[in-house]
Amino acid sequence: MKITTLMGGPLDCTVAFQLKLTMIFISGQNAAMRALPALLACSLVLPGCARSTAHQAGRVEVVAGVYPLAYVAERIGGAHVHVTDLTPAGAEPHDIELSPAQVGEVQQAGLVLLVHGLQAALDAAARGNVLDAAQVGAPPAPGLAKDPHVWQDPVRMSAIATEVAGRMAARDTAHASDYTAGAAALVADLRRLDADIRAALGHCARHDIVTSHEAFGHFAARYGLHQVGIAGISPDADPSPRRLADIAAYVRTHDVTTVFTESLVSPRVAETVAREAHVRTAVLDPIEGVRPGDDYFTVMRRNVAALRVALGCT
Ligand SMILES: [Zn+2]
Repeated sequence: MKITTLMGGPLDCTVAFQLKLTMIFISGQNAAMRALPALLACSLVLPGCARSTAHQAGRVEVVAGVYPLAYVAERIGGAHVHVTDLTPAGAEPHDIELSPAQVGEVQQAGLVLLVHGLQAALDAAARGNVLDAAQVGAPPAPGLAKDPHVWQDPVRMSAIATEVAGRMAARDTAHASDYTAGAAALVADLRRLDADIRAALGHCARHDIVTSHEAFGHFAARYGLHQVGIAGISPDADPSPRRLADIAAYVRTHDVTTVFTESLVSPRVAETVAREAHVRTAVLDPIEGVRPGDDYFTVMRRNVAALRVALGCT
């Protein structure tokens, strides 16, 4: 595969990568400074390896800030799109930083999918055909306006799916009917999920969920639960000892059986609260990334199974 570099002339991707590595290993401050412009040029060019493949195949380049949006794009776009998830596998998406190469990739993408307020670096870099999933669907309740975890609500996800299909169809009219069909299949799956969750959580002894960070506000609002987050909207904010004591007291006085941990963030703080209050822990996954073999639906259904146990649902 050949790519055109900013230095002019075609360059094989492998050679470009080796060149970048070579420049990283140039020793001495002066040499490093001299190499910087070329290194930067090379960094900006490297994503072209992937992009050029997609371009040659006539695919729409889609960049997503977080897994659930990448999943929607892949389900709807199929072979007509090339999707890049900016959050690395196993990493937590809040406050990701973007390399100059990634900023270039975002700005040249055919479609950018983000949730405004989730990732400041992406909010700042995005331009052009940008879909802010926070703006799709019915306006959220006032308390949820700043909660970026919109994918936790399957009804909101359905609206996002339809909007994504519309954006893809406008960009690539030749495959418009495929995008519409892809969205219809995804929306059907989401409707089934929504109905199953309503049935699963319809008769529960308890309705309070104590979570690691406040990632389940949209879910709680949709299904009549009350969320108490140990950390705030973003998991990086360390709760104060006072906050931990208050939550432990809440757990004891509200008959809460379980403090929920999550998969991408250390369970240490949640485990401390659970120990203080003499209750157990279980995983409630915000779906900010998935393990191999999982997808949005498998994790949502696992979450619902964990909630049924914790809330005493029949
Ligand atoms: Zn989150």
